[in-house]
Amino acid sequence: MRYHTNPSTLCIFCDNALTRETAPEHILLDAFGGRMTTKRAICTVCNNRFGGSIDKAFAEQAAHLRNMFQMPSGSGKRPPGIRNVDVIGGEKLELLPDGTPQQRSKPFRVTKNDSGSFDIAISVRSLDEVARFVPDIAAQTSKSVDEIWKVLEGTEATVISRPAGVLNFQLSFGGTDPMRSIVKSCLVLLATGVGSDALKGEPFAAARAFVMNGGDEFNLARCVIDGRPMPQDVAEALAADFGPIFNLIVVKSDNSGRMVGYFVLYNLYGWEVCLAECGAPLDVNFALASNPLAPQSWSANPAAALALDFEWLAAANDEGIEEEALRRISAAMKHQFPVAQARARKRETGRIVHEVLSRHAVDGFIPDETDAKFRFSSELAHRMAHFLLGIPLEENVKVQRPDG
Ligand SMILES: [Zn+2]
Repeated sequence: MRYHTNPSTLCIFCDNALTRETAPEHILLDAFGGRMTTKRAICTVCNNRFGGSIDKAFAEQAAHLRNMFQMPSGSGKRPPGIRNVDVIGGEKLELLPDGTPQQRSKPFRVTKNDSGSFDIAISVRSLDEVARFVPDIAAQTSKSVDEIWKVLEGTEATVISRPAGVLNFQLSFGGTDPMRSIVKSCLVLLATGVGSDALKGEPFAAARAFVMNGGDEFNLARCVIDGRPMPQDVAEALAADFGPIFNLIVVKSDNSGRMVGYFVLYNLYGWEVCLAECGAPLDVNFALASNPLAPQSWSANPAAALALDFEWLAAANDEGIEEEALRRISAAMKHQFPVAQARARKRETGRIVHEVLSRHAVDGFIPDETDAKFRFSSELAHRMAHFLLGIPLEENVKVQRPDG
């Protein structure tokens, strides 16, 4: 079906005019890797309001997965870092945006004794990091940087390197605000096809009001999380084009004017929304699919998604959702976790090589002497073996002030 699109004039949600200056609205959130935008659906005011509220609430639910699978935003921003990650049987960790686990304890602690002297406990990722905190330690103890170094230099320190352990977190998607964001995405996709003015009437009043004001009634009556697996041929075709954890939005109506939206996040969860019970434009069929691992790979109206049956889309039910979600998460992990692990391993081995190299190199090179080469290669082999086998490494070192 083709539609002649009317020139859109008004925002779907308020009566602000849409102009060339209107801020582009992401149809799928930027945070989920969405790249397709439109100026023909939502005014700048509503765009900002939703961006800071319901969209943010939805995006935050995906933060862990984005960090773990290293999924950039649609505009190329790196994944979010995660604070307060529980480690089973261990201390809390922080995950940096590149996925590196980082201990969360304070890097240093200064305690003043009764006698007026100080105890300084430093806990850092590498000896090189000590230098970063010396100025702060100096400030807290009212001593000079030189005086602190004088104390630190030659001190025995223990460097313990060990694997982070099993990170523990819960995935949880959905709830009223994220659902409002989903309904908005569906309406915006629809507006790109039929024009925003076609959404201003009575058939979409309930959906619009839900996006604007929330409310449990619409959520309970018209939104369903889907526990059914997608038709296998469709899922396979989409995975072939957009990767195993594709995103998908479909908006479809039948020939009686009933319209549904179907939203799939990371091929993990699917939600169905009844956008209009009747009176919607007839036989509408729009879709948007994308690859969150490679956001440049996206497509409006991919054939596989357009082929989804209206009856199937409109018959979502949450029966078996736990099993289905678990099945899909396991499948995604099986595919994606080794990729993330390989990336983390590469990053960590690079760090170890860099650290050992900088300790043995003179002017950037290992001196061309058998002894120097031997010391370098044996330390490198030792560190690598411990890292690759996951054995904690403890070594005693003397703190040294770096040159310069
Ligand atoms: Zn508006």
